[in-house]
Amino acid sequence: YEHHKQKNPSFRFQETEKKWSRIHVFVRVRPMWKKENEAGSRCCVRIVNGCEVYLTEFGNENDYLRLKRLKGRHFAFDASFSDSATQLHVYSTTTSELVEAVLQGRNGSVFCYGATGAGKTFTMLGTVENPGVMMLAIKDVFSKIGQRSCDGNHVVHLSYLEVYNETVRDLLSPGRPLVLREDKQVMMLLQQGNQNRTTEPTRANETSSRSHAILQVVVQYRVRDAAMNIINRAGKLSLIDLAGSERALFTDHRTVRSVEGANINRSLLALSSCINALVEGKKHIPYRNSKLTQLLKDSLGGICNTATDTNGDPVLVPETKIDQAKLVLELEKENRELRIQLARQQQKLLTLQAQLLAANSSPTPTA
Ligand code: ADP
Ligand code: MG
Repeated sequence: YEHHKQKNPSFRFQETEKKWSRIHVFVRVRPMWKKENEAGSRCCVRIVNGCEVYLTEFGNENDYLRLKRLKGRHFAFDASFSDSATQLHVYSTTTSELVEAVLQGRNGSVFCYGATGAGKTFTMLGTVENPGVMMLAIKDVFSKIGQRSCDGNHVVHLSYLEVYNETVRDLLSPGRPLVLREDKQVMMLLQQGNQNRTTEPTRANETSSRSHAILQVVVQYRVRDAAMNIINRAGKLSLIDLAGSERALFTDHRTVRSVEGANINRSLLALSSCINALVEGKKHIPYRNSKLTQLLKDSLGGICNTATDTNGDPVLVPETKIDQAKLVLELEKENRELRIQLARQQQKLLTLQAQLLAANSSPTPTA
């Protein structure tokens, strides 16, 4: 933020910028716990303009004003959520657009990142009374499919996986086909799945999640193109409740946990390398560095599955290629128009030259 601000003092994250950027970053402030209040702790963050966040050490006005002038205490996000933000508000700001994209045959991911106790599981899974992003997304997928005018030939696949110590586990019962009919059923399944997550007491927090939980929703459907050919489409939404980001710092190095810590760190590091490589537009994205990034390979780079191969299976077309192809078409069109303009100008020039020549060569009228 400071970097942009220095270059342009009137810099502010605008809606337009948000629309064009591929990766959006949000922050959610969780309410203080009773325990924290009782211990005399105070909130140390302050949201300004709905997207800028100041860290205030003691939460009082003077500190806020003092820290406002300090660099490195000020962060900007696409949007910020205060401790009173509802689950629905968080969902609709962060994820509903992606659900729309998934129903158009594109892939997308939402990660919840933060230290243990920050509210990741509350935000992603939520509770029965207060369902989070995962539940609201599934609900939205089904309601949007219901609203579609085309015949109901949509297939929705759901998987809930855990990456723990660089191994992948199925959090739902493996091998048993799932027949999902009601939202309530899905919530119960996810709650059950969450019970199966690897959780153990740590020094940082009693109920620390030591694994990454990944919910993937794949929506497959068929459409007909202008020539009435059937086209298979599939979109995938990945919703990820990451392990506590503090892992490497606070773990006890003499136990098995240090191995876990290293692996959690490895996944988070691999994830950040991939995101950085994508942001910088690098050709090689190091997906293979961890299980987490391998699982999300097709959902990080913005791939869409809209083409079909000879077997009728969706072919993955990287979005960058589509963007490049679009750009080439646009440039070609522009080129054609310029050539037409050039030809017209040349024609005009020739006519003018001919007129000039005729005027010069015509005999001077004599009295
Ligand atoms: P994490 O998954 O990041 O370790 P949790 O989601 O388990 O953290 O949150 C820790 C505690 O704080 C839980 O008891 C949760 O219910 C509560 N909590 C977190 N965020 C909120 C929120 N926005 N509103 C109410 N309670 C919250
Ligand atoms: Mg958690």
